[in-house]
Amino acid sequence: MKKTLQTSIIHPAYTAPDGFDAYPPAIHHASTVLFKDVAAMRSGEWKNKNAYNYGLHGTPTTFTLEARLAELEGGTHCLLAPSGLAAIAMVDFALLKTGDDVLLPENVYNPNRELGKWLANDFGITARYYDPLVGAGIAGLIQPNTKLIWTEAPGSVSMEVPDLPAICEAAHARGVLVALDNTWSAGLALRGFDMGVDIVMQALTKYQSGGSDVLMGALVTRDAALNDRLALAHMRLGMGVSADDAFLVMRGLPSMKLRFEAHDASARTVAAWLKARPEITKVLHPAFEDCPGHETWKRDFTGAGGLFSVLFDVRYSEAQTDRFIDSLELFGLGYSWGGANSLVMPYRIQHMRRDWQDGGTLVRFNIGLEDSADLIADIERALATL
Ligand SMILES: *Cc1c(COP(=O)(O)O)cnc(C)c1O
Repeated sequence: MKKTLQTSIIHPAYTAPDGFDAYPPAIHHASTVLFKDVAAMRSGEWKNKNAYNYGLHGTPTTFTLEARLAELEGGTHCLLAPSGLAAIAMVDFALLKTGDDVLLPENVYNPNRELGKWLANDFGITARYYDPLVGAGIAGLIQPNTKLIWTEAPGSVSMEVPDLPAICEAAHARGVLVALDNTWSAGLALRGFDMGVDIVMQALTKYQSGGSDVLMGALVTRDAALNDRLALAHMRLGMGVSADDAFLVMRGLPSMKLRFEAHDASARTVAAWLKARPEITKVLHPAFEDCPGHETWKRDFTGAGGLFSVLFDVRYSEAQTDRFIDSLELFGLGYSWGGANSLVMPYRIQHMRRDWQDGGTLVRFNIGLEDSADLIADIERALATL
């Protein structure tokens, strides 16, 4: 067919030769996906991962990342979302309808709590909050209309470690599904499916990416029927991720375990140093006895993340602990974690948690990949400003 210049620039004759192979996966950018012929288009199904239908429903790049994440978590199916919070929302919209009830731990990631409030205020769903240490006692909270129990291990500010096997057993005895936000352990230090959960959620924004430069989330299951329910919400809500972002996460995965172990070791060194300081009353790190659920952590986890909190003695005012934070040089003041840079954040935990007993400012640390001796020297210097 004869083509003008304008058309031929859009329909070029050259295609690169087949047979190229390399370790990094190819990055496929696509909205439109081309079908071989009309019959292929008609036989295609949006959720069939053996074929392609539309860029939003998957490309070789996103299918490859999903498969790697499912394998890492010990599951069989994975769906990507444009953020960790979007993955959480996908679970709720897939599994809950008007008249249903969802249980969330008091220490749940705060935007997940916000989502629960929205469901309760505008969607006719009840969202109830439970003591993260409730364990088998969750049975007493389950109602006939309870459809979903969220868990987070540990809660990402106050760090209580839940008894997941006990919660899962009670939930499954009543046909209730359990979703786990497993971001803190990156799926490395805690095996969600071994604990009995039905859905593992990950904020890939954290350790999987490791670069503080991408937002993404994932849901992993090992039940095809449950994955189908989630996939329907994924499709209906238009949960697409960028190919370049998927590449960044894939680039982070091979080094994740080594980075995680480095974060873990350094965080325990810094936390142990803080534990010995007179300014600090509690170290809320699951590997330390101060942390509620520490025995459960010892039983169920093989390691720890780089994120933990401390409580300052009540004799220090918030203005003083704010000055401490502002005096730190190696710790950035910012949300999120899992990247190379150490971060710090104060929380008004007494305002966030109706059930909170302790006084004193709660300060959360994310220990990055700097030398822990330098981090300790920085903290020591900043403590002197108290
Ligand atoms: C960061 C985080 C999320 C949400 O991830 P985003 O990608 O930032 O939306 C959810 N749960 C936990 C525990 C997190 O730390």
